[in-house]
Amino acid sequence: MRILVVEDDNRVAEALVGALRRNGYDVQRAANAAQALNAPPVDLVLLDLGLPDRDGIEVCRELRATGGVPVIAVTARGGEPDRVRGLRSGADDYVVKPFGTAELLARIEAVLRRSMNHPTHRDRPLALDGLEIDLAQRTVTLDGQPVPLTRKEYDILAVLARAGGAAVARDQILVEVWQTTYDGMSRTLDVHLATLRGKLGRTGSLVRTVRGFGYRLTIPDPTPPPPATGP
Ligand code: CA
Repeated sequence: MRILVVEDDNRVAEALVGALRRNGYDVQRAANAAQALNAPPVDLVLLDLGLPDRDGIEVCRELRATGGVPVIAVTARGGEPDRVRGLRSGADDYVVKPFGTAELLARIEAVLRRSMNHPTHRDRPLALDGLEIDLAQRTVTLDGQPVPLTRKEYDILAVLARAGGAAVARDQILVEVWQTTYDGMSRTLDVHLATLRGKLGRTGSLVRTVRGFGYRLTIPDPTPPPPATGP
C-alpha cells in the first residue's frame, strides 16, 4: 500500500515516514501543497492541514476531486474549531497532533479497509438481507419495493453505507448530513435514526448503535471476485 505523507515540518515528516515504512507501507513525502498535488497516485494521503503554500482544506478537496483518494487530515490542536476543520475538510478521518503511532496506524488501516469496501470499488449496489442501497442511483429498496425515505434519512443511510460497515461518529454524520456539529442537533439525529429504522422494517436492525460513538451498518464481507481463469 502506498501512502503519501504531506507535511512541511521535516522532523515530524521523518518520524512519520520512518514509522510507516517500518509497518510495511511504501511511503513518499511531499513538503508542501504543490508537491502533494503533483505526486504520483497513492492508496492514501496523510495530509497536514497547516501547509506553507496553500490552505490544507483546499488541498484536501482537490485531492478528493481528482482521484477520489482517501485522505486522513492532520490538524495541529485538539480544540473544537480544529476538530470541525478536520471534519469539514472532507477527509475520511482526521488525527490531532500530537498523536501516537498506534492510533495513526489503526486509523490508516480503517480508512484503507473502508475505501476497499467503497461501492465505487465494488461497482454494484449494496445488498443486505433484501435491502438494496444504490448510492449511484440514490435509491433504496426492500424486497424490490422502494423505501420512501426523506432526503435526510437517505443521507444518513448513505453516510453509513459509504463507510462500508465501519462505525461512523455522530459528529461525522451531523457534519455530512446537516453541515454542523452543534450539540442541539444530536436529538434531531436520534429522531431521524428512529424513523429510518422504522421504514427499513426487519432490516432496520442492520443500523447498529455504537454506544458512546455513533452508528454503523452491518455489512457482510464483500463476496470475493470470481476466479480470473476461464472455462
Ligand atoms: Ca504544518
